[in-house]
Amino acid sequence: MSILVYIEKDQGRIKNSSLEAVSYAAALGGITGDNVQVVSLGESVEGESELLGKAGATGVVQVTDDRLNAGVIQAHAEVVSQVFDKVKAKTLVLAKSSLGDAVAARLAVKLEAGLVTNVVGLPDLTEGFVVRRSIFTGKAFVDTSIHTENKILAIKKNVQPVKTDGSPAPVEKVTIDLPSEAFSAKITGTEKATGEVLLPEADIVVSGGRGLNGPENWGLIEDLADAMGAAKGCSKPVSDLGWRPHHEHVGQTGVKVAPSLYLAVAISGAIQHLAGVNASRYMVVINKDPEAPFFKVADYGIVGDAFDVVPKLTEAIKAL
Ligand code: FAD
Repeated sequence: MSILVYIEKDQGRIKNSSLEAVSYAAALGGITGDNVQVVSLGESVEGESELLGKAGATGVVQVTDDRLNAGVIQAHAEVVSQVFDKVKAKTLVLAKSSLGDAVAARLAVKLEAGLVTNVVGLPDLTEGFVVRRSIFTGKAFVDTSIHTENKILAIKKNVQPVKTDGSPAPVEKVTIDLPSEAFSAKITGTEKATGEVLLPEADIVVSGGRGLNGPENWGLIEDLADAMGAAKGCSKPVSDLGWRPHHEHVGQTGVKVAPSLYLAVAISGAIQHLAGVNASRYMVVINKDPEAPFFKVADYGIVGDAFDVVPKLTEAIKAL
């Protein structure tokens, strides 16, 4: 049998969270003995078979239909359900994301599958199929038992390291007859509001807090973010005070981020801020107060004055 993985593409590349999902499926297949098939929709990206194979795929089902390049939810759900039957899968794995959530919800109905999102570990198969998920913005875990034959697992970002040792996965090109209702909603074009790296998708985020004293000092954050190719964020008071736009506000009541690296400058680390950033792979904190709560959860910390530390850090990164 197969485990099927639904992947997402963005600007000619496969999203890293999708490669994590492929590697999760490979690890699961290592326990269940299933092979890992990836369903790839629309245009393939350069080196797709190598990339997916390295991450753990044993095969790729490429559904070539240009209309699938845009993430039309109904169409994606229809195709994935057909491929799910074709490869005789019982489990679908995908990355937790807004598109993934929408597709997974429809597939749960179509496939009569138990769906668990925010999965943070491989299932325990000793008594049924019990999988751990993260709840309350990462503050707690719950073990959920799936009783349906078909299962859908949406994997939380930064949980599964991407494998890099597999061999290229053979690609089978298929055409699927899609009913016109599958395209009843049509994306006619997309345009980015800014040329900047978008916060929710950023791999690196540099955020500034109230300790920076005012908007006139934001050049520090901008220079560091530019040097690192990072998106810019801020704490809630900073946006409440109007120093930065609200869309940069990170936390429980703002944007939730899950980058590989979150760099917090002059942010205390209040629980409401951490709720939006604790899915980051690494957290680095710069704060002049050694007792700042952020240090308790950070992977690395610099106790120092941001006005002294940040310019030096920026120069050092530029010199790399
Ligand atoms: P402060 O708490 O003022 O901390 C500033 C930090 O900067 C201090 O640790 C200080 O030591 C350090 N500092 C000062 N000067 C320097 C310097 N020169 N160099 C280095 N360090 C320096 N907050 C969020 O961020 N996001 C949310 O989504 C959010 N939602 C909330 C929801 C609710 C219902 C409530 C009640 C609060 C929420 N908050 C949220 C607010 C949160 O509780 C904190 O008040 C806020 O996160 C604090 O922001 P801050 O760390 O930037 O400021």
